[in-house]
Amino acid sequence: MEEFPVRTVEGLCLGTSLAISGFFYYVYRKKRKTVDKLNDAPRLTLDGKLADLLNVTPGKCLQYVVIEGAVQPLGEPLRSQFQDGSMGVVQKLMLREHKLVWNSLSRTWTDSERVLHQRVNAVPFSLVGSDQANVRVLCPLEASGLEMEIIHEKFHQATYGFTDIIGQYLSGEKPKGQLETEEMLKVGATLTGVGELILDTDRVLKLRPPTDGSEYFLTTADFETLRLEQEGQAVVWQVLASVFALAGSAILLWVGCRYYRSLRVRWDQERLRREFERLAAGGTGEGSTQEGSGEQETPLENACVICLTQPRSCVLLECGHVCCCYSCYQALPQPTCPICRQAIKRVVPLYQA
Ligand SMILES: [Zn+2]
Ligand SMILES: [Zn+2]
Repeated sequence: MEEFPVRTVEGLCLGTSLAISGFFYYVYRKKRKTVDKLNDAPRLTLDGKLADLLNVTPGKCLQYVVIEGAVQPLGEPLRSQFQDGSMGVVQKLMLREHKLVWNSLSRTWTDSERVLHQRVNAVPFSLVGSDQANVRVLCPLEASGLEMEIIHEKFHQATYGFTDIIGQYLSGEKPKGQLETEEMLKVGATLTGVGELILDTDRVLKLRPPTDGSEYFLTTADFETLRLEQEGQAVVWQVLASVFALAGSAILLWVGCRYYRSLRVRWDQERLRREFERLAAGGTGEGSTQEGSGEQETPLENACVICLTQPRSCVLLECGHVCCCYSCYQALPQPTCPICRQAIKRVVPLYQA
């Protein structure tokens, strides 16, 4: 019976590592494409000439550009719920619950966080450059990289009595409290946008998510920071993909080595079998001459102790007994010497000159 060269566990590990590596490589390629596009994106100055430039551009559209300006609402700005006088165009309110959960595996209390409530508000806004030139920003919530300023953060400590404590030990959950935060993209903040720039029919410049599927960015950091951050992420994915690909290769190598070793053993057995066959062919040649001379009745002097017909042809090691023929050796139910019961480590053909 031929043994399947890959064991289930090895196959599972190999498949998993290759699949993970492939996924990471896919993410890396995507990131790398984003970084390349960012590197190629022209950086435009937001001034009066921009609308004229777009007007002469075919399709009145620039596929992927970088533009920087100050945030200005088109209508009424949003007002902070917690900080008087703070106004913005995007607001994110969040309520998170912090608690300690009993981990029965490590037998410790570990921190756990859960979002209880989240609300995002946004009003239409533009980026304003010099000469009051402005670009309307469309779909700001679809953009990546928008880190807003935290203008309010308050932790409400949980209070509990004696019965609560007993309940906590029974349920394995200890509430710590709730964290309330408000983030805001403030009016007047400098924002860098990377996306598709169009001149609409109403002669308004608009920045929107690229129609070719490239990543849309809005960030309060400068362009160089954004580029370096994306570059760093690409490197991380590349390293992860390489690590898992290496793990996959190591498993393949391991399986290959094991398969080669088993082949070697099989080749050795085959070689030995042929050797014995050659010897046996020589032996029967002699036997037939004996038969020919009418000595059929006389039992063979050195006959195999098992079949009593073939000549003994094996030296069993380590005990050194010469007691059986090769086919009887192969038919032994256990690899032990039929005379002394010692384990047979190796068998060599017996050459009689
Ligand atoms: Zn035999
Ligand atoms: Zn023996």
